[in-house]
Amino acid sequence: MKIAFIGLGNMGGGMAANLVKAGHEVNAFDLSADALDTAKDNGCRTFMAARDAVQGVEAVVSMLPNGAIVNSVYAEDVIGVAPAGAVFLDCSTIDVATAKSVAATATDAGYEMVDAPVSGGIAAANDGTLTFMVGGTQSAFKRAEAILNAMGKAVIHAGDAGAGQTAKICNNMLLAVHMIGTCEAMKMAEKLGLDPQTFYDISSQSSGYNWSLNAYTPMPGVGVPSPADNAYQGGFATALMLKDLRLAMEAAEGSDSAVPLSSRAAALYEDYNGAGNGQLDFSSIIGTY
Ligand code: NAD
Repeated sequence: MKIAFIGLGNMGGGMAANLVKAGHEVNAFDLSADALDTAKDNGCRTFMAARDAVQGVEAVVSMLPNGAIVNSVYAEDVIGVAPAGAVFLDCSTIDVATAKSVAATATDAGYEMVDAPVSGGIAAANDGTLTFMVGGTQSAFKRAEAILNAMGKAVIHAGDAGAGQTAKICNNMLLAVHMIGTCEAMKMAEKLGLDPQTFYDISSQSSGYNWSLNAYTPMPGVGVPSPADNAYQGGFATALMLKDLRLAMEAAEGSDSAVPLSSRAAALYEDYNGAGNGQLDFSSIIGTY
């Protein structure tokens, strides 16, 4: 297929390269010249404007920083510019309301569109092992699935437009809560005189079992290998967790949802990020206990 890819940053760069590897013809656009150079090295055709990149394509994939940028790129350079009947896949993490409104505008103009945010970081983007959670009609999902399979290990239809973003922010809101809960329990066990590894051995096989403890143990030298064992480098940056928590808090307010634990977790990550820890893995918040 001929596909336009807009936003070739940390995530999009590897994703576009995987589309090329799968045999697609990829037209790439990014505001950054360095990103375009890398895309060219990875076999993409590069363009100096999004509206040029979307000419003659069957699909447009975007991986952009936020909802305002997604909205302006689609409104100004994609909708009404890409060929009629093209399918659009926005893989960025953005707010649910913007995801729904951009999809509605695209649909009104005769396109199909899905929101398809990802779980997995830069390594998964490079390796083609992302998980995509997809919002859109069954027909849009089927068309998107064929493209997303080249970039991921799992592609799940979450529901109608916006459902992908809903799944993503609710998942990461839960992740923040069980990470903080795990940090608190591990530190308290230690302060009460229990060896942290012994606590891990017990709780990871008891009702305290959870992903943060079992698969991403936040304390160095305890449990499974994780960013904690690498001075909290790599992994999932605190700044990105905070971005998702802010979107979650916005969605909670908009949907009149009660989220007392999650809002406390969001406040803790606001403070931790504000103290200059944005680039450290989010599990490093254990250092505050
Ligand atoms: P990034 O900042 O590395 O990349 C974004 C790219 O978009 C940049 O290259 C930038 O130049 C480009 N860009 C900005 N405005 C543009 C415009 N108007 N037109 C064209 N290009 C434009 O960010 P990233 O880490 O690749 O993240 C992208 C998205 O993926 C975000 O929504 C993020 O929340 C989400 N995400 C990131 C991760 C991660 O681990 N990095 C994990 C899951 C989801």
